[in-house]
Amino acid sequence: MTAPSSSTWSTQKIKITIIGGGIFGNSAANNLIKAHPSYEITLISNRDYALNVMASHRLVVDGFNSKQVTRPLSSIINNKVKIVVVQDITNFDDKSTDIISMASNQQINIPHDILILATGSIWTNPILTNEFGANLGQMDQYVNEQMEQLKTAKKVVIAGLGFVGIELAGELGHKFKKELGTGQKKIICVHPSDSVLDENYKHSIRSSIKDYLSEMNLTLMFHDVALFDESDPNTVILRSSNTVIEDVDVFYNCTGPKPNLPPTTLQELDLSNRGFVKVKKTLQTLNYPNIFAIGDINNVPGKNMNYREEHIQVLKQNVHAVVTSNKSGFKDYEAKEKALGISIGPKAGVGQAPVPVVGTIKVPDMLVVMYKSKTLYTDKLNSILGKI
Ligand SMILES: Cc1cc2nc3c(=O)[nH]c(=O)nc-3n(C[C@H](O)[C@H](O)[C@H](O)COP(=O)(O)OP(=O)(O)OC[C@H]3O[C@@H](n4cnc5c(N)ncnc54)[C@H](O)[C@@H]3O)c2cc1C
Repeated sequence: MTAPSSSTWSTQKIKITIIGGGIFGNSAANNLIKAHPSYEITLISNRDYALNVMASHRLVVDGFNSKQVTRPLSSIINNKVKIVVVQDITNFDDKSTDIISMASNQQINIPHDILILATGSIWTNPILTNEFGANLGQMDQYVNEQMEQLKTAKKVVIAGLGFVGIELAGELGHKFKKELGTGQKKIICVHPSDSVLDENYKHSIRSSIKDYLSEMNLTLMFHDVALFDESDPNTVILRSSNTVIEDVDVFYNCTGPKPNLPPTTLQELDLSNRGFVKVKKTLQTLNYPNIFAIGDINNVPGKNMNYREEHIQVLKQNVHAVVTSNKSGFKDYEAKEKALGISIGPKAGVGQAPVPVVGTIKVPDMLVVMYKSKTLYTDKLNSILGKI
């Protein structure tokens, strides 16, 4: 597959389509239009608002309201970018995207020279963000349903204590402190290894998180895998110990995100085993030089919000290199280890940071609380959502 030649492009306006009005897609749109005001950029999203996914668990646990974690897309995106809110994308390929327009309820074809996929991941209930709906009314309805379910639940099982499972457990532990203390509510967290997270994290981090969660009266079970029993919605089976947990009101499967890829007829779009879009170091898809994938939808190590700036710089340069057919103008993406913080409710958190020569160190918990746990970035909402 080859991109159109520069001579084809020189006679017309370059058309760029970005699919996904989230943390990466918005930033890509604003940065590209700023660098190249002559490009015709269309941002396609299935919502008319942008959401700070990183605060979505506190939203459903009743710690934030929807205004604190969202902004209308139109207030975030540069007004030279065309925003199209869709009911559905029915297909995309290397030439165009087919959508059902929300405004006209009609099937429309949007042609592009360059396509940027930024549709992110599907997380788990209760933060199944792809179910949040097209507008704030629908989102509030979903959030209220989840909130109500959580309030009345007596027994909750969380499968998986990766960072999302931990953060969700921390929000629940904080919100239902009293009920957990009196035994009115029970929250059981099941994880396959001997501690939370995995060996890629420092031992001190893992044991510190374990302590925080235990102090919140959460029940922690290690060396096991929790499976939802399809035949009985109130039963969870622990695979290794063959234990049955009965009377479960809510089961949250926090065993990792799934890719949120719209339908496509492209035969040679290479996907990883888990379905994420494989990209080269240039962030171009393997077989389609005019299709890029950024953020959670791609398969590079180091692709979360922390790495947005690096993604965008590489994208900006490489889109230009494709447009100008400048083979030596490409830049490679490299993810260096960065500081990270995991919140455990609004008042606790742990983190680690790489320090030259010394290696990775645990950072003081208070720094994580100040920088992340307290606000989950709602204090920087515009910039988190991609406004520049
Ligand atoms: C609880 C939690 C805490 C986190 N904390 C951190 C943290 O501290 N630091 C960090 O770096 N990362 C963190 N992350 C990860 C971070 O949120 C993601 O890396 C980031 O949101 C990825 O951005 P994105 O633009 O790729 O996807 P998203 O932000 O999910 O945006 C995707 C967008 O695409 C749209 N979309 C999806 N499908 C379609 C479709 N078919 N058609 C049109 N539009 C579509 C969606 O509506 C959405 O607007 C956290 C995640 C969670 C769940």
